[in-house]
Amino acid sequence: MILGAHLSAANGLHRAAKTAHEIGADTFQFFSRNPRGSSKRSHTEKEIAAFRAAREAYHIGPVLAHAPYTLNPAAIRQETAEFSCAVLCEDVARMDALGIELFNLHPGTRADGDLEAGFSQVAAMLDRACSGDERIVVLLETMSGRGNELGGQFFHLQEILSRAQHHEKIGVCMDLCHVYAAGYDLVNRLDLVLTEFDAVIGLERLRAVHLNDSMFPLGSRKDRHMPLGKGHIGLEAILRILSHAALRHLPFYLETPLDDAGHAAELRTIKEALGAH
Ligand SMILES: [Zn+2]
Ligand SMILES: [Zn+2]
Repeated sequence: MILGAHLSAANGLHRAAKTAHEIGADTFQFFSRNPRGSSKRSHTEKEIAAFRAAREAYHIGPVLAHAPYTLNPAAIRQETAEFSCAVLCEDVARMDALGIELFNLHPGTRADGDLEAGFSQVAAMLDRACSGDERIVVLLETMSGRGNELGGQFFHLQEILSRAQHHEKIGVCMDLCHVYAAGYDLVNRLDLVLTEFDAVIGLERLRAVHLNDSMFPLGSRKDRHMPLGKGHIGLEAILRILSHAALRHLPFYLETPLDDAGHAAELRTIKEALGAH
């Protein structure tokens, strides 16, 4: 099993890799730049070498870079769309150069509800960001489907993927809180949800899972993460997900609202529970 957590990279990626090891994680996720702004950190040669060395020493990976929340690839407003495209292109290239394996983004919101136009716009942006020669795999995240958000239904992601030129190199990241809030019953109908994912997108496209509980109930369309076992999904269902034959080879990244010590405790809980199964 590959268990990770979202960590701060503010003190450098080499520090994050070390922290991952210290909290008992196999890997980690971090923001490719300031999540609520646009400022980015440039990495010195020395830092990159230290990151590579730390990854090797602690066997860390696959590492996932998450795009900032300020992007809206489906935006109608031209400046927002252009900003999103510029950041996407730049960060896919930056993260690929660092040897990061996965890059995750939210497909965004289409204010006028014209989701079709949104699908095409996001696909066109992926075409700009991905030449097809990158080693990094770009992932579209499943979303809770609030308002006119793209990604609240599996077919949304398939529509984007099918319109992208290098669709074979683009994957999906399933966020447990989002999927549950969007109305997919991970608690009582896990097999059915995965069968539907497979039929609509293809399970081979699923490359990562965001490990979260949900503050709000099934179908609430509200995106509020909770620590594992403290929300409506519950620990038993999360353990079934972690050990499911269709999922257990994937990397899982905790995005629960806890600090590093809290994540360490969650990882211990998961490992003990699964070891005891
Ligand atoms: Zn996300
Ligand atoms: Zn997520």
